[in-house]
Amino acid sequence: FENLLTFHHQMEAVSHIAAGVAHELRNPLSVIKGFLQLAKLTNDHQKYYDTIMSELNRMNGILEDFLSVSRRKLDRRLQSPANIMHSLTEIIKAECLLHDVEFHLKLTETDQQVHVNESMVKQVMLNLLRNSVEAYGESNTNRVLTIETKIENNQYVIEVHDNGKGMPESVLRQLGKPFFTTKARGTGIGIPLCKKIIEDHGGSFHIQSTYNVGTKVVITLPLEMQTGDNSPY
Ligand code: ADP
Ligand code: MG
Repeated sequence: FENLLTFHHQMEAVSHIAAGVAHELRNPLSVIKGFLQLAKLTNDHQKYYDTIMSELNRMNGILEDFLSVSRRKLDRRLQSPANIMHSLTEIIKAECLLHDVEFHLKLTETDQQVHVNESMVKQVMLNLLRNSVEAYGESNTNRVLTIETKIENNQYVIEVHDNGKGMPESVLRQLGKPFFTTKARGTGIGIPLCKKIIEDHGGSFHIQSTYNVGTKVVITLPLEMQTGDNSPY
């Protein structure tokens, strides 16, 4: 009986990890797919080559993350979050183009640096981007996605705002629970993972949403280094 229990727990762990890996790889995979489609449509292969290559590298990095036994240490560097957002522009634009979404980028505080793990912050943004473009139904016509960076209350703030279908109270109540999804092919890992990554940075992650109006994700990152488990010092 004990062996069976152990086996059950192991299988459960394996399936959770597998779902996590699959979820994380789906983002770069869909970017690569989109860029290959664009490359074919526009016949401009050179233009998309770099992004495809960098997404492949990202997939590689994600796999390494999952494979590394100790994922505890968060390797952070002083960087401008606005610049990280800027470096994602081409990917976001392409994704928005494919989903017929108008994209607005309002970057302020471009010189302000924060201790971040760049690839994890990118992972968060691409997860949010994916959720936003998936939040538009057929009836949504004026689709607008806005990403904004600013400083408020001595915190670095990143906001992602979409005018998609929003979330009813019943969804909002469950939001953040691992594996909670309303999508036929969803995994329910995106939001919990984003929350964990931002909280590992000493920041906060909040979602405001109104059904049939839209969704706003507010991320804050501390301006001062807060010492804790994940301190790079
Ligand atoms: P998944 O995308 O795999 O379903 P997530 O953890 O990323 O998992 O999201 C959980 C659920 O939260 C989604 O299934 C969806 O119902 C809701 N959700 C997340 N982001 C948005 C958004 N921008 N607009 C509307 N609903 C959202
Ligand atoms: Mg998601």
